[in-house]
Amino acid sequence: MSDPPRTGALPASARPVWAEVDLSALRHNASVLARLASPAALCAVVKADGYGHGAAPVARAALEGGATWLAVATVDEGVELRDAGITAPVLLLSEPPLPAMPEVVAHRLTPTVYTKSGVRAVSDASAASGVVTDVHVKANTGMHRVGADGADVLGVVSAVASSPGLRFGALWTHFPVADGVSEDDRLFTEGQLAQLAGLRVALEAAGMPPPMVHAANSAATGAYPGSRLDMVRCGIALYGVVPAPAMRSVWARALDEAGAPALRPVLSWHARVTLVRLLDEAERPSYGRLAPLPARSWVATVPLGYADGVPRRYFSAGGTVLLGGTRRPLAGMVTMDQIVVDCGVDEGVSVGDHVVLIGEQDGASLTTEEWAETLGTIAHEVFCAIGRRVPRVIVGGGGNR
Ligand SMILES: *Cc1c(COP(=O)(O)O)cnc(C)c1O
Repeated sequence: MSDPPRTGALPASARPVWAEVDLSALRHNASVLARLASPAALCAVVKADGYGHGAAPVARAALEGGATWLAVATVDEGVELRDAGITAPVLLLSEPPLPAMPEVVAHRLTPTVYTKSGVRAVSDASAASGVVTDVHVKANTGMHRVGADGADVLGVVSAVASSPGLRFGALWTHFPVADGVSEDDRLFTEGQLAQLAGLRVALEAAGMPPPMVHAANSAATGAYPGSRLDMVRCGIALYGVVPAPAMRSVWARALDEAGAPALRPVLSWHARVTLVRLLDEAERPSYGRLAPLPARSWVATVPLGYADGVPRRYFSAGGTVLLGGTRRPLAGMVTMDQIVVDCGVDEGVSVGDHVVLIGEQDGASLTTEEWAETLGTIAHEVFCAIGRRVPRVIVGGGGNR
């Protein structure tokens, strides 16, 4: 990974910035998670364009690695997978807008439902097309975002069971603090699992046993073996990131127990220097003239800015990039399209030099986890911020069929 990737994939006229997506690492992670989850199935969460990695290539690679389900947030995202020729089951993680149900049915997507009007709309759309649609019923057990409250779950499932065009495919829920390590978080998550188990028992007693029950996101998959149930829905771990820094040891133990190797990062982020200049001590580069250079320094301009996913606060938070195998601080405020990097007394820095924002360079590394820590956020947001102006260069084979 220390070699600059083939910019041959970029046109010579392009701004020299790119994100490399390594599908061999993605397949590896899918196989690790499938092994960890087994006998539960692995659902690869590829919403938000595969967390910014590219939904269709990621989905294919995840399926090659052992995932059997895919999940997305919106109907459009599901249609995109179908248009790419992907035939695996695709779960929509929220109830689609009622007018979208004909499109859901036509593309054989699996909607989540939790309202009677949602059930009626997907039932009508199925009847109109003469097909039977699988639906997953979501229970709200404490996230309080979407899902039917416990008392309403039986009614929603009954509505599904009495609709000729529908099949009750699964009962599921979602955890807000599975990545937490406090005793409170643990009790909350276990309480949710207990509620879900209670709902399953009630549905069985009512003659409507759920064919499948699922709950775990990446965090729960590692930390709560009892949450793996029939299927786990993994996003961030699929992209090679342990869900929270505090969970590293929990994950290491879980992977060890499953006889599975470590996760590998999938995405690395690159650019080339476009200008270098020598500035005097106390010069203040970029907007706001916020910080004086501590010494006479070579300052490199790199053509990536906040419109590309480097937040403005990356400067004030002390963010760095790799250049010449060394961590270098920013010399001033991030602008929309460019950053300035303080290369100190290093005369060796020149135009065209390879800059790594996320990834490895000559033995040094800068991870997405570190970006998240620097910015006070989670890796999910770092990935999703990488903008559309940054071409994704797919390596690692496969994923293209
Ligand atoms: C996004 C999402 C996931 C995946 O979460 P990760 O933390 O990325 O594993 C799972 N389930 C639901 C409902 C989600 O919205």
